[in-house]
Amino acid sequence: MKWTLTADAAGRTCLMQGNEALVRGAVESGINYAASYPGSPSSQVLGMLGEIADERQFYAQWSVNETCALESCIGTSLTGARSLCIVKQNGLLTCADPLHCGALHGVKGGLVIISSDDPNAHSSTNELDSRFMAMSADIPMIEPITMQDAKDMVPYAYGLSEKLGQMVIIRVTTRVCHGRGNVVLGELPEKNHGFTEVSEWERMCAASFLHQAAIDRLNNAKAEFENCPFNKYQGPEEPEMLIVASGTGHLYAKETVKRLGLEEKVGLLSLASLWPLPEDFIMKRMKSAKKVLVLEEIDPFMERNIQSLAGKFGLSIEFHGKLTGSIPSVGELTPDGVIYSIKEFAGIPLSDTDIGFAEASLVGAKLPAHAKKDEKEPLLRRELAFCAGCPHRATFYLLKKALRLEKTPGIVIGDIGCYTLACQQTGFYAYQQTTCMGSGISAAQGIGQLTAYGMDQKVVSMAGDSTFFHSVIPGLLNASYHNSNMLMLVLDNSATAMTGFQPHPGLGITATGKQVAPMDITKICEALGCTVETTDPFDVEATAEKLHRLLQLPGLKVLIMRQPCATMTYKGNKEKRRVWVDQSKCLGDGCGCDKFCSRVWGCPGNSWDFKNNKAVIDTVSCVGCGVCAKLCPAGAIQVEGGEQDA
Ligand code: SF4
Ligand code: SF4
Repeated sequence: MKWTLTADAAGRTCLMQGNEALVRGAVESGINYAASYPGSPSSQVLGMLGEIADERQFYAQWSVNETCALESCIGTSLTGARSLCIVKQNGLLTCADPLHCGALHGVKGGLVIISSDDPNAHSSTNELDSRFMAMSADIPMIEPITMQDAKDMVPYAYGLSEKLGQMVIIRVTTRVCHGRGNVVLGELPEKNHGFTEVSEWERMCAASFLHQAAIDRLNNAKAEFENCPFNKYQGPEEPEMLIVASGTGHLYAKETVKRLGLEEKVGLLSLASLWPLPEDFIMKRMKSAKKVLVLEEIDPFMERNIQSLAGKFGLSIEFHGKLTGSIPSVGELTPDGVIYSIKEFAGIPLSDTDIGFAEASLVGAKLPAHAKKDEKEPLLRRELAFCAGCPHRATFYLLKKALRLEKTPGIVIGDIGCYTLACQQTGFYAYQQTTCMGSGISAAQGIGQLTAYGMDQKVVSMAGDSTFFHSVIPGLLNASYHNSNMLMLVLDNSATAMTGFQPHPGLGITATGKQVAPMDITKICEALGCTVETTDPFDVEATAEKLHRLLQLPGLKVLIMRQPCATMTYKGNKEKRRVWVDQSKCLGDGCGCDKFCSRVWGCPGNSWDFKNNKAVIDTVSCVGCGVCAKLCPAGAIQVEGGEQDA
């Protein structure tokens, strides 16, 4: 994989993942600077850039958050350097302020933002559509269809950014990021892009009177997009039926049109330039159309804008898309769903198979009345759960127990990370609220202030170590300054685990693998004036005592729950300890237990032996943390070397 990123092999065809193709495009563009905060589906981009940064002589950084990442790119642009900022859709919202203000003053060196959207929210809390951010900030946006486009669009975006003097956003979605396709490599630059001296009178200062300048740049982008080399059309010269598609929708539609033999009847217009829309390019094909189907992922962004374009030119067209239920209003496009949509659009009778596939893939689509839902599930559905040996399971179990000792129910506010799962069964339904990254501390701080007015409940919030650095520190400062009555838990598992173990400031390592002095969470909390204690959630007695005691204290308290992520520890070189059940002691589903380990505790390693009607350890899943042995009411779970060493 690394070879394809830096190979001096122009013209060679390589099989590349979309994220890899974007990296290769950045290398071919001669970037000088790259910054990101991890977020799926584009986490791998900065990870790969970090690996090749020294070889290709550019700087790569895992910033503490997306605002820091984008602001640093804007800064380097002042020197004429080419910079790349990589974010996911939530990250683009996080850096909305520099995005909108930076769009006013524009850029000097090319600045490209790769923004990855996550239709179906596979690894997100929402399905935000970043196209609206481009529209709101007056920033041009393009979207690749193929892996080749993904690579080629990066140098194109730098050329456009420098020509317009504006940032350019490349939007990608999950299937393009993670899919693979052939990519023909381009030339590598002999030297990366140059810098120029920043003169005394150089200015990149945001001010409201520059709004018109931003609009002028957008209009220039529109003129450029009329001839954008990535926009394509195939089909009859004057189509009566037109499909407008972007991203994955184009490939699904192209295949379907061919399969159904509709090439002579249906036009397929594929849009890579999403904002601003190339009106003349679209109108050339749309003016003859009686019907238009719009295929896009997440919101009806193109559909609304193309409808408004049709209205502007007085066209009377029957539109099909998300607004009519012809494609799903939520979730991802799928090949089967698109077959259904195009058949319906083109008036081709639907078979039961089409309807069955569509039912499985078109969430929210309007199906004919006779369509029956196929109740058969090919696989059993499994609950989302913390991994075996995850320290968060112990944390939430002990927190729940500590709060049960209070005379009123506790209020627990979550945050974003693996531990967001605690709002489900695996975390004992611990949370009442989770909103967005870094929000937990401030939400809890607000509730904590109400205790002075008679609100008589314990308030707890929590965040992981990566989230702590990302956006908890200002909230903690605010809570400390105003002495909110609450307990903050920092779930320090020494990892940004959810996105693939990218380094953060607590770990003492950078994106390029250099060792640096780590930031100490305890010292930061103390510097913010907090009362701080640390515990190991696997030490259940000590942790239970600390939780109970701190909950009784007034004011702001911080308890750092420190235990490395189970996957990091046990995928490494630490040997697993053997854990087993002494079935002669196991109470099973009898009184005093009722299958506590497999029913309540719920670690994937705690299983059930249906033959003997007793508990058993699944030795494949179990990582030997030993916590279940400490909680078993009958002392039936045995740990090699004794449970106290756990
Ligand atoms: S918690 Fe202990 S006693 Fe209860 S089922 Fe599990 S092993 Fe048996
Ligand atoms: S020792 Fe118990 S809690 Fe730990 S991983 Fe094994 S089964 Fe799960």
